[in-house]
Amino acid sequence: MFDNLSQRLSGVIKTLRGQARLTEANIQDAMREVRMALLEADVALPVVKDFIAKVRERSLGQEVMSSLTPGQAVVQVVYQELTLLMGDHNATLNLAARPPAVILLAGLQGAGKTTTAGKLAKFLREQMKKKVLLTSCDVYRPAAIEQLRTLAQQLETDFFPSEVGQQPEKIALDALDFARKHFHDVVIVDTAGRLGIDEAMMDEIKRLHAALDPIETLFVVDAMQGQDAVNTAKAFSDALPLTGVILTKLDGDSRGGAALSVRQVTGKPIKFVGVGEKVAGLEPFYPDRMASRVLG
Ligand code: GDP
Repeated sequence: MFDNLSQRLSGVIKTLRGQARLTEANIQDAMREVRMALLEADVALPVVKDFIAKVRERSLGQEVMSSLTPGQAVVQVVYQELTLLMGDHNATLNLAARPPAVILLAGLQGAGKTTTAGKLAKFLREQMKKKVLLTSCDVYRPAAIEQLRTLAQQLETDFFPSEVGQQPEKIALDALDFARKHFHDVVIVDTAGRLGIDEAMMDEIKRLHAALDPIETLFVVDAMQGQDAVNTAKAFSDALPLTGVILTKLDGDSRGGAALSVRQVTGKPIKFVGVGEKVAGLEPFYPDRMASRVLG
């Protein structure tokens, strides 16, 4: 990811770094290049516009910073603004609820919800020493329930069974009850996704949300979907009080636009990224590290 974007930006950066004096025209040229590079990487247009405006404004006053050449100072501004764009700092999971803390996963079919449920269970158990219960409310696809059951088995994590045709809220509430009785710290609830956004899916997840009152409602989205990922994130974020986003398939050849846009478009932090199909392929999201990667 970011290969093309990094390549494009490194050209701009090289030119900027070499400048002992920067004129408004130099900055203008550089910003034009940055703008093109971001658009080509599938960053949402309003995000690009806003970003360029901020960098330009801050760059014009850079001569006053004595420790860096003006060119270096502009590069520093770009780095800082990229970091801010993605949320500034790592947003951790919030589990401050009376146990069990509920994590509800939402997203389209194929986004990586079920895989992510398993990854999160592993993360919570190994990194945070939590006792986790997994359950699936995907009552339309037996394969989805089976997939989670298999993952749970592989991870030696408890699984609350469900069946096609059951009512999602009932499954979730029964799972919660079970978790209370068996002293689980966290319940991860996987949900049904559809191929596109539709009203029935939104209604169902809203009802689940109302019934469960989760401490975390995480939207799982496939980074490979570029602009569509951001549009879908916006639609879910408008319908549900999301607490964060998990961007999957960052190991693929996505151009990176979703990583750079999703925070600003939804106002919700990216909490984790998926970096592989295996259960170990989950990493907390660090905006500053991602910005460094973008800048190569
Ligand atoms: P769901 O329909 O949202 O539950 O999606 P799944 O969890 O079934 O994932 C759909 C496909 O994406 C599967 O083939 C997963 O192995 C794959 N997948 C999920 N997360 C990642 C990831 O971070 N990287 C890669 N390369 N593949 C992923």
